[in-house]
Amino acid sequence: MRQLIAGNWKMHGTLAGVAAYAAAIKAAPAHADMLICPPSPLIEPFARALAGSAVAVGAQDCHGAPQGAHTGDVHAPLLRDAGATHVILGHSERRESHGETNAHVQAKVQTAVAARLIPIVCVGESQAQRDAGEALHVVKSQLIHSLPADFTGVVAYEPIWAIGTGLTPTEDDVAAMHGAIRAALLDHLGDAGGTVKILYGGSVKPGNAASLLGQPEVGGALVGGASLKPEDLLAIAAAAPRG
Ligand code: PEP
Repeated sequence: MRQLIAGNWKMHGTLAGVAAYAAAIKAAPAHADMLICPPSPLIEPFARALAGSAVAVGAQDCHGAPQGAHTGDVHAPLLRDAGATHVILGHSERRESHGETNAHVQAKVQTAVAARLIPIVCVGESQAQRDAGEALHVVKSQLIHSLPADFTGVVAYEPIWAIGTGLTPTEDDVAAMHGAIRAALLDHLGDAGGTVKILYGGSVKPGNAASLLGQPEVGGALVGGASLKPEDLLAIAAAAPRG
């Protein structure tokens, strides 16, 4: 399976920065898929700037309804219309600061898929949950309750304590969690669970990418901070094993 290296810009970036970033990121290595997820108003300019390149554009969230009276939210069909092919859903920052539950995430997945967007569903435990020995249980429960039984898309394992902290799990911990996620996906989705890419996310940098991306069942990376510099995201993509 080709790996997917996805950049999550979070709430960063301006229109003025799109052209230079797009020009730099077009040099993406041919052996990995690449995706940039900027804030919503930058999706259409990015899609135009990257047209004809191998780099795709995604969104960071969508509403669980396809349209309606939801001030400030963005609907999945519009994201698709603007040029997005993917959408990140259930990121821990949204679960925490917007009170998103697994049920909300599942509704968003269904709406995204109906709009022909590929969902990237984030799961991951907090430091307290890991310390209490509950990491596996928490992640499996998020998967089972966030993914519809006919799920198609991507899953991202993002331990909350590793996001933006410079901390990462050990190689063994990544391998164990990704193996457990694969088993849970097979259990929940049947054979289709074997085709879901499982990204790792949390403080991926050029210096640790090769070891994290080289672990069994790691199908790529979801990259926050390091995705803001195209040269760092390209270096991470270059470290992806050839599928
Ligand atoms: C993220 O928030 O999805 C993320 C992985 O962030 P960072 O790479 O900055 O830890």
